[in-house]
Amino acid sequence: MNTNANLLEKVVALCKRRGFIYPGSEIYGGLAGTWDYGPLGSLLKKNIKDVWWKDMVQLRNDIVGADAAIMMNPKAWEASGHVEAFTDPLIECKICHQRFRADQPGEINSHENMHKQLPDWGGGGVEWTEPQTFNLLVKAYLGVIEGQQQEIYLRGEITNGVHVNFKNVLNSTRIKLPFGIAQIGKAFRNEITPGNFTFRSREFEQMEVQFYIKPDEEEGKKWFEYWKENRMDWYIGLGMKKDNLRFADHTPEKRAHYARMATDIEYQAPWGWAEFMGIHHRGDWDLSRHQQFSGQDMHYIDPETDEKFIPWDIETSAGVDRSLLFFLLDAYSEGEKGAVLKLHPKLAPYKAAIFPLLANKPELVGKAHKVYIDLQKDFMVAWDERGNIGGRYATQDEIGTPFCITVDFQTLEDDTVTIRDRDTAKQERIKIGNLSQEISSRLG
Ligand code: ATP
Repeated sequence: MNTNANLLEKVVALCKRRGFIYPGSEIYGGLAGTWDYGPLGSLLKKNIKDVWWKDMVQLRNDIVGADAAIMMNPKAWEASGHVEAFTDPLIECKICHQRFRADQPGEINSHENMHKQLPDWGGGGVEWTEPQTFNLLVKAYLGVIEGQQQEIYLRGEITNGVHVNFKNVLNSTRIKLPFGIAQIGKAFRNEITPGNFTFRSREFEQMEVQFYIKPDEEEGKKWFEYWKENRMDWYIGLGMKKDNLRFADHTPEKRAHYARMATDIEYQAPWGWAEFMGIHHRGDWDLSRHQQFSGQDMHYIDPETDEKFIPWDIETSAGVDRSLLFFLLDAYSEGEKGAVLKLHPKLAPYKAAIFPLLANKPELVGKAHKVYIDLQKDFMVAWDERGNIGGRYATQDEIGTPFCITVDFQTLEDDTVTIRDRDTAKQERIKIGNLSQEISSRLG
């Protein structure tokens, strides 16, 4: 675990200060459970999604992409069971009327402790209401005639938009089982207690693959195990510390209404182990239900055996925002000159920063600016000419820039620059002409 004291508070402050994440609609006093990503946060988020898409879609022959509408015919949510079962147990404190999830003992304990420490308020004890089921779907209204508007839901998860297109994808491509459909997009939940920074938000992004397989127990187990390892390795490959990660299998009570097998990948967050992705064996739940509710045939015909069946689905569902938060918490460290974000170079918002050694020497500034303009064509790069070199390194370390390039007097003679590595602080001289290739190869 990252033992840095007040880690979450430090990362929240850094995010605000350097433009990663701001509270949503801040100038109006905010809107609980919403966050806005700034110049650096939006780059980091895009990089996570781009690396994910490349690994899932571009580099695989068995997964295709999709980008379905957020608003769907409400029947889709009846079919998937969300209208009926996408609920959390809600309880209310009878003293201060704050509401909590009955299945989150940590939050309930801390609320009870708060009242104990304030004996003047409720005599130090707490009485709770009976749990009520509370549906998390966010409603919206479509149509222009008052009184005749159609009530719809903003999607509570992005899964449904893929399943309803199962036949469209089959009919418009040459893909055969086993195959997956990948999607990244926003989801909305009326969370009872948003909190822990972006961890529990009311608007967030997911990145998912629905992987369709033959309905067979052995196939199901094989692909479930495959995706568990594949996803764990992905996060470790992008620099997350192994010791901060674990699988948490769902007990039959926790398992969702549709799941045959389910496990989460959890991160050791400052507030305890916390889920940021789930791997679910959903059987034929989704396709069968959509077949039942839409009246459309969802069978697959095996081109080799002519067998006809409804495929099973192994889902991997990761939160983009939670992944981003845990990449940040994991990467945060402190050096002599302040915070250093040891983000994997593939994820870092800027790949390199370019400096002229001295800001008052036009020949250095001009040369450095040319390097900057050239590298900009290949990478997101930063420019800095303020203060001294040490201060500029510290400024870039704090936002995770892996390489800093300095144009100095030697550059004017031999066209070489120094490139300094964030993690080793080692500097090397390389030719300007080789810079782009060098950075590419260091990005991995
Ligand atoms: P939790 O138990 O924490 O509410 P969940 O089990 O309901 O999460 P899933 O429905 O499995 O979550 O959603 C898949 C992923 O979507 C989660 O692992 C998480 O990364 C992300 N996610 C779900 N709810 C939220 C939220 N309120 N804010 C941010 N990300 C979320």
